[in-house]
Amino acid sequence: MKLKLIYLFVVFIPFLGIAQPTSKPVQEDFAPLNLDYPGLEKVKSLVAKKKYDQAANALLSYYKKRSDIRHPEYNMEDKGRFFGKKLSKDNQEKADKGLEHQFYVHKGYGFFDYGKDINWQHWPVKDNEVRWQLHRMYWWTPMGLAYWSTGDEKYAKEWVDQYIDWVKKNPKGLSKDNDRFAWRPLETSHRLQEQTALFNMFVTSPYFTPEFLMVFLNNYAKHADHILHNYSEKGNHLLFEAQRIIYAGAFFPELKDAPVWRKSGIDVLNTEIKKQIYDDGLQFELSPNYHTAAANIFLKALTMAQLAGVDKEFPASYKNTIESMILAQVNYSFPDYTHPMFGDAWNNDKKNSVRNFKDWAKVFPDNKIIAYYATEGKKGETPTYLSKGLTTGGFYTFRNSWKDTATVMVLKASPPAFWHSQPDNGTFELWVKGRNFMPDAGVFVYGGDEEIMKLRNWYRQTKIHKTLTLNNADMEICDAKLIRWQTSDNLDILVYKNPSYKNLDHIRTVLFVDQKYFVILDKAEGDATGNVGIHFQLAENCDPIYNTTDNSISTRYADGNNLFIRNFNAGQATFAQEEGKVSYSYRKEVERPAFVFEQNKASGNAVTFATVLYPFHGNVAPQIEYKEEAGNDPQNGFIHFTIVIDGKTHTVKQQL
Ligand code: CA
Repeated sequence: MKLKLIYLFVVFIPFLGIAQPTSKPVQEDFAPLNLDYPGLEKVKSLVAKKKYDQAANALLSYYKKRSDIRHPEYNMEDKGRFFGKKLSKDNQEKADKGLEHQFYVHKGYGFFDYGKDINWQHWPVKDNEVRWQLHRMYWWTPMGLAYWSTGDEKYAKEWVDQYIDWVKKNPKGLSKDNDRFAWRPLETSHRLQEQTALFNMFVTSPYFTPEFLMVFLNNYAKHADHILHNYSEKGNHLLFEAQRIIYAGAFFPELKDAPVWRKSGIDVLNTEIKKQIYDDGLQFELSPNYHTAAANIFLKALTMAQLAGVDKEFPASYKNTIESMILAQVNYSFPDYTHPMFGDAWNNDKKNSVRNFKDWAKVFPDNKIIAYYATEGKKGETPTYLSKGLTTGGFYTFRNSWKDTATVMVLKASPPAFWHSQPDNGTFELWVKGRNFMPDAGVFVYGGDEEIMKLRNWYRQTKIHKTLTLNNADMEICDAKLIRWQTSDNLDILVYKNPSYKNLDHIRTVLFVDQKYFVILDKAEGDATGNVGIHFQLAENCDPIYNTTDNSISTRYADGNNLFIRNFNAGQATFAQEEGKVSYSYRKEVERPAFVFEQNKASGNAVTFATVLYPFHGNVAPQIEYKEEAGNDPQNGFIHFTIVIDGKTHTVKQQL
């Protein structure tokens, strides 16, 4: 025995230069494999002869030569193409710090040190996402790319070591706490997907030994099996898990359960696309970033299934629904590709959006609208309509153009949604000529301990949205019922009712007049009593001037692209400034102007507000007066009011 150990030490290590703590393959290591899979004949016969070392060796040779299974992005032959190609600074840093166990776990925090002997339970900031996302190993793909780019085996060696270290230290069932983070299905599915690419990146390295292959495949099969039995109940997590189990089943068809994984993932997505996507194309979480993510998940699954030749299991309606999701996004986006930060959304970046549209254009080459956005307007066409309501999901867009000079308001008045949405019905963003005057506050942070939840909950409050509150409390019911949505060349109208509180309904009417300005009429009705307020928030850099005697505010941008807001309940409604903040990206926030018009509501009496939002050009705000005229009844389609702009009187009288 001693002799054998010395022999191993002397021969094994100097020749291969590896000291992996993996054990020799045994029979049960082959249990997850379908040894009748075409190409595995040699492996099968060696296993039958109990020559497990040689069988693992043959299996590795098979994988190194395998060419009929394609990865959508990274295939073995790409190695040469990446050689000498410089990594982005970000990726290089993630890869190199990853070698030192300084792991990039979350974009909001950057790098944390996990110790020489990696502590996978380390929790440096008590934000749940930090602990979860560690188990997505965001630095591994950069390490793979660094390996391809430099050919330096140190990346492969370290990756193999970290992989084995993770497997050893995070067995399922280690503890309830560890399972909660390391084996949350979302993270497990993330690893399933990423490891298809990592497999292709590292499989040709001498550090990717036959013994390691067996560790890898067994761990991988365990992952897919975990998803199969632990799908999240609903929402985007379930979608990610289903899409990624399709990856597993398509990329490793040699594994016994691969057909089961594929079928399960396809079944889930088929069911979910019908359940999660409203007939207007909106995803039911009603948060724009998650909408895009969901569209991409559905498409990714289809693409991977195509690469494995099983895409026929998806019906045609599946593809049509994805197309309607893309068009919904077009509808609620501003001309600069940004979109409202409703719910748990953050500012999206144009480069990313264009890349998405380019990918989508490949799947929908005949769609001229998608082509327009994919080519930044060089080809294709804009939609033929302007204002449009997505009336099931409740995103209403008032628009006078698709160009950069447009005025666009997107308002949310929706059915109940889930975790990623907020109690904010009635809120909106207003974008004029390239400027978002009234961004939503965003999300700032996800879940975590008490301290983190406090930060998160500030951003969820109803009163920090552009809508109506009773005693500044959060809306109890977020379930808007559409009363009227009608568009025409010179007047668009939205009327909806939200049963915001017990005994208090909020009825909001928005008129987009002459494709130029907005009149917002709010009514709070019901038996509730107390302080009723309508809230507004502006962008952080607008340098507003307040006129508290006539309830007006004007922005003062030096370029002259400005907005004037005036409430016409002076004498009844009082004006007050409020705490305002906006977060465009995770854990970054900035103060901004916010204000409220308030009235006291006695039992039984309805309280109403009339507010005009008037975009203008120049440095002096217009003088505006508004007066409701006889018979004005927007709910029933009769509009009648007078507006005076810098002394010029216009009467708007229209039966819609
Ligand atoms: Ca919000």
